[in-house]
Order: sequence, then structure tokens, then C-alpha cells
Amino acid sequence: MADLEILTVHDPEQLKILRSKSRKVRAVTPSLVALAHRMLETMRRANGVGLAAPQVGVLQRFFVAELPADEENNRPAETYIVFNPEIVKKRGEDVGYEGCLSIPGYIGEVARAEKVVVKGLDERGKVVRYRLEGYIARVFQHEIDHLDGILYTDRLTSMETFRPVEEGQEEAAEMEAAR
Ligand code: ZN
Repeated sequence: MADLEILTVHDPEQLKILRSKSRKVRAVTPSLVALAHRMLETMRRANGVGLAAPQVGVLQRFFVAELPADEENNRPAETYIVFNPEIVKKRGEDVGYEGCLSIPGYIGEVARAEKVVVKGLDERGKVVRYRLEGYIARVFQHEIDHLDGILYTDRLTSMETFRPVEEGQEEAAEMEAAR
């Protein structure tokens, strides 16, 4: 199946969509779940770690995320599909670099909560609670922002940290900076 088009801030019409607030998902339907799986495929091919529905032009509250397997530490890949995510608890602060598939070619430094508890629905429509910290907590906060039309560039610690990287290397550069 062909990749979905990822909207970017460089196109004014697409930017308008990226800046919109998404609506709550009324029911986790098979077609939404199928779309989420296509988003995962698209995200993997773009070397991303997270992709929110508005980034593919769908103004509904859900996102996908995946941490690749870490063979050195014998950790399998972690894949998430979360509908109607809500941060119910935040703790601490963690400053780190982020990139975004909708802002190709750049990274910048953002302060996020270090630990979050996120409530949402899984792909069977069941209520789930994720207790997260560190990098994956950052990814969730970034993706949930997309559902409110917020981009990480709105939250930069300073404009000086916003810098170009080789296109397609945003996540790699970001993970590198996070180490
Ligand atoms: Zn993003």
C-alpha cells in the first residue's frame, strides 16, 4: 500500500490543517484502526518515531508511536496506537532535542515533563493508562500537542537551538542528542 502524504509546514494550506484542533474520536472503528496501521508504515519509512492523525490530514484525536528495538540491550520494539489521549499526570522536567516529520530538515530543543501518565483508548477501544518517562514520554507529549495544533517550534527553549539537519535524519539527530 502506498504511503500516506505527510503534511508539512512549508505549504500554507497544509499548515492550516496542522494548526487546527482535532476532534475527539467518537468510536474506535476498524477503518480508523486500519488508518493508524497505515500511519505506522508511513512513519517507519520516513524514519519517524511518532505520527499524529492531523499530520496526514485527519483532524481526529489519535496518534501512533514506535521505539525501534534495541538489540544491544535486548529490548523489543515498542509500538503504540492511542485514541483520545489525555495527559492526566505530569512530573519533573526534561530538556531535549526534537524533530518532526511535518518540519523536515530541522531540530530544536524543548522542555517537557520528565514523567507523564497518559490515559486513552487502545485499538480495541479499551481504556488504557500509560506510565511513561524519558524519551517515550517526550514523544507522547509531542504527539498530543499535534492534536491541539501545537508544534514543537512553539515550545523551543530558545531560537538558537533550532537548527537544520540533513533531511530524514531529524529523529536520528534527536535520539543522538537525547543520549
Ligand atoms: Zn511532530
